[in-house]
Amino acid sequence: MIKCIDCGAEYGLRDIIYTCRECGSVLEVLCSPHVSKDIFECRKSTMWKYKEFMPVDESRIVTLEEGGTPFCKCKKLGDELGVKLHVKVEGSNPTGSFKDRGMSVGITKALELGVDTVGCASTGNTSASLAAYAARAGLKCIVLLPAGKVALGKLAQAMFHGAEVISIKGNFDEALEAVTALALEGKLYLLNSVNPFRLEGQKSIGFEIVDDLGWRSPDRIILPVGNAGNISAIWKGVTEFYEAGFIQDLPRMTGIQAEGAAPITRAVRKGLDDIVPVENPETVATAIRIGAPVSAKKALRAIYDSDGLAETVTDDEILSAQKLLARKEGIGVEPASAASIAGLKKLVEMGEIDKGEEIVCVVTGHLLKDPNTAINACKEPIEVDANLESLSRVLNHL
Ligand SMILES: *Cc1c(COP(=O)(O)O)cnc(C)c1O
Ligand SMILES: [Zn+2]
Repeated sequence: MIKCIDCGAEYGLRDIIYTCRECGSVLEVLCSPHVSKDIFECRKSTMWKYKEFMPVDESRIVTLEEGGTPFCKCKKLGDELGVKLHVKVEGSNPTGSFKDRGMSVGITKALELGVDTVGCASTGNTSASLAAYAARAGLKCIVLLPAGKVALGKLAQAMFHGAEVISIKGNFDEALEAVTALALEGKLYLLNSVNPFRLEGQKSIGFEIVDDLGWRSPDRIILPVGNAGNISAIWKGVTEFYEAGFIQDLPRMTGIQAEGAAPITRAVRKGLDDIVPVENPETVATAIRIGAPVSAKKALRAIYDSDGLAETVTDDEILSAQKLLARKEGIGVEPASAASIAGLKKLVEMGEIDKGEEIVCVVTGHLLKDPNTAINACKEPIEVDANLESLSRVLNHL
């Protein structure tokens, strides 16, 4: 069943619906199978390990074996900050971001519904992922991107997998409004995270974190927040496993936003249960350059219900954290992902996070998604002749 999070109106699983027809609010898919966690043992480590919790037809699954991503202990960085730190590396998914989890379920649902065209607005990763999964399923794919604001790797993926890429004169929020209008006209099946089936895939990040920890919850999960689907999804995942009795505790959900695009953090500071949109969002972390997050209400509930936090970080803090993670732990992530590490550092310094806390930072996308930002942060390589004498001269100067 699909249910409105505000008025409780109920809709069927085969209904093509994105927001509540009664009150306009966002929807969620209800899912509570009665199974024992023993059934997960010995299954391949992809997100479909937890298929009983995925509300789609098992015989139609479209998968590139997403999920089952690395859960890396980061002892050096953790010791430096005084916490026990694990990093969930979502850049290891098939197209290089966690969006693949949502698209696997979303595209499976699209096949179930019998649609022939899917679409989305995107800051980049959603379109990269949708293009790949639509190709795999044989569906037509239309993506709307904010002109000039999409990182190169993501644009390359969307185009190369054969999506119809349309550049919008405007920002992400405007592109989303435009593609939603197309979806309501019946021109395409919308696979932005307002589609509640997307979050059903992404909740598997929460499943995997507690499974990775040996059926325990960490004290806290920290992640970047843009359109706010992922923080809502992870909270849904850990809550479902808690209610199924698989874990005895729940983590504090901690969302990090860029200072120039922080409607959720502002709402949390004032204790509000909805946001005031930010007009011209700006940040180097293009994946979270969003002023009017569609899942804001769900995200705010996740933060309040889990006794969590929201904080902002500056672009400088994001870029320093990106470099720190790459150089201290060997984990290469795109700028938005580094917001989780930058946020952790800031919250420790502010005394909001206690020494010794067990923290999981979700790093959401791969370094190579945004090669320009990475190259701009480094010196150009020195060019030398290929002989021992010139090489020795250079090495002596390092
Ligand atoms: C989509 C995305 C985010 C933001 O996730 P939301 O669900 O929109 O909050 C963060 N980082 C990366 C790399 C992303 O692709
Ligand atoms: Zn409603």
